[in-house]
Amino acid sequence: MVSTLARGRSDKQSKVELSQFSSAFQHTAMNSSVRMPALFIGHGSPMNAIEDTPWRQAWQALGARLPRPRAILAISAHWMTPGVGVTAMPMPETIHDFGGFPDALFAVQYPAPGSPALAQRIHELLAPLPVTLDQSWGLDHGSWSILVHLFPAADIPVVQLSLNLAETNDFHYRLGQQLQALRDEGVLIIASGNVVHNLRMIQWQPEAPAPAWSARVEQRVVDCLISNDHQALIDYPTLDPQALLAIPTPEHYLPLLYIAGLRTDQDAVSFPTRGIDLGTISMLSVQIG
Ligand code: ZN
Repeated sequence: MVSTLARGRSDKQSKVELSQFSSAFQHTAMNSSVRMPALFIGHGSPMNAIEDTPWRQAWQALGARLPRPRAILAISAHWMTPGVGVTAMPMPETIHDFGGFPDALFAVQYPAPGSPALAQRIHELLAPLPVTLDQSWGLDHGSWSILVHLFPAADIPVVQLSLNLAETNDFHYRLGQQLQALRDEGVLIIASGNVVHNLRMIQWQPEAPAPAWSARVEQRVVDCLISNDHQALIDYPTLDPQALLAIPTPEHYLPLLYIAGLRTDQDAVSFPTRGIDLGTISMLSVQIG
């Protein structure tokens, strides 16, 4: 399906219009000379959206020092699809994709506009990979629980890219590389997950010691990023003897590979937040550039 702008018209006509739309996106970006940084944010509990936590404070400070983007591409651990999709609606809904949390969390809205033009630009950049221009998703909590702090005004267009878990780890890394041009077009790419994420072994008692593998795997990820050992990040099951306890399912880890793929030789790497929450959740964030 193509953008709602083109609904009811012939597919061919729609494609022409959208490709002009996308060229317009590139053209207006030409004046922008700043290469945008790219971020991986460890989002942790959705409650970080409304509770006063150290993570929330760090995200607010990070948002305040970032250059203002023209648009945001969010790659969230919470949108998995059989192929690859990109949200292409003009006004994405705020999706409350969880249960058992207080009403105050369900009341949160992040009314940022979408960007059909950016969606089409991504469609072009990833060709010949078929990318669905999605009209059914929106912004899930992997995106909005951090965006409410990074960009509280919700006045910057946001699109989301989905994760296709049927693909290899290397596929996700290469997809990140293919999105590189967006950084020169004023787009801030934000990948959202957690490099250590074991919900089954969460420790609810604050005094309970965290398993040693949590901090160890987080440190391995930091070391690999500093030394540019991206292959070790791609081959994450061998990062540590207990790597698969730290990363029992791939969806919260894979967004990191997009950011690794986007790193160039000119990009410094820094870690705006790090630390283990609830024993088994790494709150590591990564900034390149
Ligand atoms: Zn999550």
